[in-house]
Amino acid sequence: MPAAKPQNKLPLWLITVALIGAGVAALMTNQGPGTTAIPYSQFEQLLNDGKVTNVVVAGDTISGTLSQKLPDGNDHFTTVQVPGDLAGALEKHHVQFSAVTGSSAIGTLLSWVLPPLLFVGIWLLASRAMGGGRGGMGGGFGGGLLSIGRSRAKLVAETDVPVTFADVAGVDEAKDELHEIVDFLKKPDEFTRLGAHIPRGILLVGPPGTGKTLLARAVAGEAGVPFFATNGAEFVEMFVGVGAARVRDLFEQARKASPCIIFIDELDALGRARGAGGQMGGQDEKEQTLNQLLAEMDGFDRSVAVVILAATNRPEILDPALMRAGRFDRQVLVDRPDKKGRVEILRIHLKKLTLANDVKLDEIAALTPGFTGADLANLGNEAAVLATRRGAVAIAMADFVGAVERIVAGLEKRSRILIPRERRTVAYHEMGHALVAMAIPGTDPVQKVSIIPRGIGALGYTMQRPTEDRFLMSRQELEDKMAVLMGGRAAEMVLGDDVSTGASDDLAKATDISRGMVLRFGMDAALGPVAWDTEQGNFLQQQGMFWQRRHYSEQTAHDIDVAVRTHLDAALERALEILRGNRVALDAGAEALLAHETLSGDDIPRPTPVKAL
Ligand code: ADP
Ligand code: MG
Ligand code: ZN
Repeated sequence: MPAAKPQNKLPLWLITVALIGAGVAALMTNQGPGTTAIPYSQFEQLLNDGKVTNVVVAGDTISGTLSQKLPDGNDHFTTVQVPGDLAGALEKHHVQFSAVTGSSAIGTLLSWVLPPLLFVGIWLLASRAMGGGRGGMGGGFGGGLLSIGRSRAKLVAETDVPVTFADVAGVDEAKDELHEIVDFLKKPDEFTRLGAHIPRGILLVGPPGTGKTLLARAVAGEAGVPFFATNGAEFVEMFVGVGAARVRDLFEQARKASPCIIFIDELDALGRARGAGGQMGGQDEKEQTLNQLLAEMDGFDRSVAVVILAATNRPEILDPALMRAGRFDRQVLVDRPDKKGRVEILRIHLKKLTLANDVKLDEIAALTPGFTGADLANLGNEAAVLATRRGAVAIAMADFVGAVERIVAGLEKRSRILIPRERRTVAYHEMGHALVAMAIPGTDPVQKVSIIPRGIGALGYTMQRPTEDRFLMSRQELEDKMAVLMGGRAAEMVLGDDVSTGASDDLAKATDISRGMVLRFGMDAALGPVAWDTEQGNFLQQQGMFWQRRHYSEQTAHDIDVAVRTHLDAALERALEILRGNRVALDAGAEALLAHETLSGDDIPRPTPVKAL
């Protein structure tokens, strides 16, 4: 019955489209990428100033639109309501407002019925797009959908970006690295004429709010080239092929606009290691999109002046293929600013504010260790709000102190700010690592010691030369390395009786080394030159063969545990000895760290060298 088929199909498609429309509408009322979360106090302030145009209240979340852009360029905001007469206040300021209820009878019903319907609809669409997408345009509807995806990708490049390096402070190393890119984009011909190698892709790595986006824009502003800004998440679509098509379109447009910059924010959303974090469905699509990105980056010939900047705060989860030569082969660390950097950032952000005479940038910087550029910008705002509340003519130092307290309370919850006693412990801990390393001859030179909190989890910044680069390491080097790792814990022991949890990562690394020496490298005298630890092959498991993991006796297992422990004890003892013998340098170094937050190798007090093992 050929005639019945299209009749059956049409309503289904209509339903699907309607459902997706509803989904999209629901999503749009939620918080999107152009939305800034602001404190309730700031919302009140904006309301009093008549800057709020409309508002939607859902539960205790308020979102809405402003008549004036926030400092970060957004004019949508969300905030969480503090109990009070909100409706009255909104009415007073003639703000259009509405409320969304969390649960009504119909809402409950819909929340049960909609998801399965949506799911079926999307599944139908996806299978349609897949079938059509592979062979070009495919059926009418599938093709139409694909081109919807594509037209949304029609990015408008920002020309005349109004940001320059003068707007970014406290990240001098990153700026230095990016200067070269600016020069290249200004005069691409000159560079290619001399055959200089210019990196195609640069990865900006650092915690949120440190100015990665700002830096990328500043490069475009300095060079005066168009700026194509995208977000990794934008490429991750339900429909196989759409993300890849968007990448292709983006690069096509960039090629035409050359010289120019492509900026991919949150690269990790798109560039997750393949096969990791198996998410249902989207995997295939992500892989295609990532492959397309890699192909586009490889496909440029040298004369095309398109530089791809990307930002991430989770470099450890990126697919290693992204980091190969010719792709994002250069990483630039955008770290939290030190005290001097914070002064410079404050200078930028407080320029527009009316300050009282007692405001000292130096003092504010001293109060704000661990703050990012974004935190400092926010600090200016909060202080201004406090001053306005007081009815003051200028923002005084007391307002800044009050604002710092507020913000710190928020940051402490996210464990980013250290209390003074913790700072002291951390300073001794870090100085312990440094002094042990400097006292042992032949270890890698210490370049920098810092007690600025690192917000990217236990990442420890991959930017230091990893030892995996080395093919061979001698027993001596491994022992030295263990002693350096133990230096942190040892310094805490020298400082007082108590020890902290701060050494957990060091201990894990040292234990790894010790286990390697005993189990794999035959470096323990008692256990002899035996490879006790045999990697088990997946292959054999797949063949259904049983592979015994441990093929040594209980007695040997016990001996191994003892040997691993012995090496670790020896390393700790060695570190302790070095630090006890250099107590003066340890105290002086820790004090200097507390005062300056970062020290370069030359500023660290010299310990007395020890003899090699
Ligand atoms: P990221 O992209 O690293 O998360 P952003 O570049 O979006 O951070 O920073 C957000 C805002 O914080 C910027 O628009 C700027 O106002 C402020 N800011 C952040 N870092 C700096 C900095 N290093 N110098 C000056 N302002 C900064
Ligand atoms: Mg950003
Ligand atoms: Zn440590």
